Amino acid sequence: MLKKNLQETYGCHVFNDTIMCERLPKETYMELKKTIEEGTPLPSGTADIVANAMKDWAIENGATHYTHWFQPLNGFTAEKHDSFLILSKEGRALTEFSGKSLIKGEPDASSFPSGGLRATFEARGYTAWDCTSPAFLKEDSSGLTLCIPTAFCSYNGAALDKKTPLLRSVEAISRQAIRVLRLFGDTKTTRVQVSCGAEQEYFLVDKDMFKKRLDLMFTGRTLLGAKPPKTQEMDDHYFGTLKERVSAFMKELDEALWKIGVPAKTKHNEAAPAQHELAPIFETVNVACDHNQITMELMRKIADHHNMVCLLHEKPFAGLNGSGKHNNWSLSTSDGVNLLNPGKTPRENAQFLVFLCAVISAIDDHAALIRASAANAGNDFRLGALEAPPAIISIFLGDELTDILEQLETGEEHDTKRGGVLDTGVPSLPNLFLDTTDRNRTSPFAFTGNKFEFRMVPSSASIAGPNTVLNTVVAEALAQIADRLEGTKDFNKELNELLAEMIKKHKRIIFNGNGYSDEWVLEAKRRGLPNINNSADSYAAFIQPESIAMFEKHHVYSRAELESRYEIKMEKYIKIVGIEARTLLQMINRQIIPACTKYANDTAKTILHIKSADSLCDTLALEEVLRKTTSGLSALTKALKKLERAAEKSERFGEDYVAQAKFSRESVVAAMNEVRKIADELEGIVGKEYWPIPTYSDLIYSV
Ligand code: ADP
Ligand code: MG
Repeated sequence: MLKKNLQETYGCHVFNDTIMCERLPKETYMELKKTIEEGTPLPSGTADIVANAMKDWAIENGATHYTHWFQPLNGFTAEKHDSFLILSKEGRALTEFSGKSLIKGEPDASSFPSGGLRATFEARGYTAWDCTSPAFLKEDSSGLTLCIPTAFCSYNGAALDKKTPLLRSVEAISRQAIRVLRLFGDTKTTRVQVSCGAEQEYFLVDKDMFKKRLDLMFTGRTLLGAKPPKTQEMDDHYFGTLKERVSAFMKELDEALWKIGVPAKTKHNEAAPAQHELAPIFETVNVACDHNQITMELMRKIADHHNMVCLLHEKPFAGLNGSGKHNNWSLSTSDGVNLLNPGKTPRENAQFLVFLCAVISAIDDHAALIRASAANAGNDFRLGALEAPPAIISIFLGDELTDILEQLETGEEHDTKRGGVLDTGVPSLPNLFLDTTDRNRTSPFAFTGNKFEFRMVPSSASIAGPNTVLNTVVAEALAQIADRLEGTKDFNKELNELLAEMIKKHKRIIFNGNGYSDEWVLEAKRRGLPNINNSADSYAAFIQPESIAMFEKHHVYSRAELESRYEIKMEKYIKIVGIEARTLLQMINRQIIPACTKYANDTAKTILHIKSADSLCDTLALEEVLRKTTSGLSALTKALKKLERAAEKSERFGEDYVAQAKFSRESVVAAMNEVRKIADELEGIVGKEYWPIPTYSDLIYSV
């Protein structure tokens, strides 16, 4: 229940600015604020005072423990709880939380994936407080725990987590964006922040149904299941009235999120039955990332309170819409000016166009990397399928903006309504009204008025990776622009030439048409755009020499950090396919085949029974059912053998991840598809009461 009202509830479990201002000595508060806003190191001594205030606040709220809360490379969040308890000499219970404990932790890191970054004998990893993301009190049935968002590094400083590179990429883009702003006469801006709002899609299914499906339990997606007669054809679920149970879940979720300062804003039904979405108000990317991690965690936890399970997999149901995360992204100055907002004055517009073109060239130059940043095994089933962006990276700008870029490229104004020409020759956009209602849902990367929306991002993954890549590639484009324009004699002339060149070179990535169409695949090929249709192949982009050089130049990832991430991603892909194959084998062997056999046996008995009662009776229909079932069983067994062999072979590749991943995809996934096809046909033949697992209809209409 809401404590009082929304305003009082929001942030009541966050050690936020108001609380800090109230509870810290003014000087400490100012020092901490400077660290948060400007990234300056926290003076020694200050941490002790902050820690103590944090502890008092946490204890007053009922907490007994604190945890450094971090995001290891397995994509989840990790926590190790320590109580505030210390003992006096007399053995009396006291509480303590030192600045040292706030700033640094030493969890045993040996069980987290490190991709070789941390030799196993050096089990230590360090967590370091990230004071740009506020501490909060996490609630569960056991009470409240003080959570301190932290970065996680190895003994030698290599990033073992997703937060550290993200923070580094924010620094990188801020540095380069400021260089560009200075060119336009901005002398004030001290930091450029990345804003991010991640819309989260998910499915809810009944927990009792879920528990009867090994595939959902082990892999998060259905490996079997015929498409029901009706799913989303009638478009009756999207924005439809919320069911009571779903609505109760959403209410509890909203309240839990608000308490810890996650600005949950919008909730609605999505296109597929049982699919929903939550969108928060955008925040700085680091906080948005932490908040998205907590949102996913709470979605799972709170669904359970309502006897439901929240599925965050990218494609839980074949043939239905998949889930993604629309990663809304923009840049803003320390004064809160959105740099992707077309301005009011010609100068602002020219600056806007530079940032816009920086993004366009960055995405074109590094399309493969952007693609890879949004890749995971689950997304392989989503990208290019129903209502999901294709695996080809392109940018939607809308006709109006595209038209303006064309004018910039040719230097000709062909529409006087667009206003005059800047003395730079850049067409000014005084009355520019970008039609943001024209949302091309088919584009993987769309400009939506004052932000870009990266729609490929997988629903289950952390948004840290995609944003780290996005920030870095744009930082690199901005660096190139600054290199070219700094110190030029005729800034306007050079700027015009540069913009024209950039547009000419990169306009191939702009596509305003239907991204789901087959024609686009051909057109993209003609334009030379990469179309990498699976995650394992895409990961190679991380370890290309150009990528390594760029990430190292901007101090975002070292070569070793990239190589480790590549290894972890490849390994994870292979493991997922392995688990899926083993799960499917078990379901077919132990559930589907016995069910089909029983049905065949009962049908055969029925035929004999009828015939023995009256030999003249027509049993043709039953015989056909029997034949279909038994021939289905034969086909299934054959396909299963193939899968068994492929799954076995896929284990025998040693360390050759590339060959193993290729085999997993081409042989194991292909064999799974074959098995599934036959099993799904059998589902349509075998009697409902014989079918051993909940069907798609059971699942998607279970709540
Ligand atoms: P949609 O039609 O896709 O739902 P909205 O405009 O409602 O679009 O915004 C979707 C998401 O984009 C929200 O999370 C919102 O907070 C976020 N958003 C809005 N403006 C920005 C911005 N400048 N930078 C980053 N995210 C933004
Ligand atoms: Mg959206």
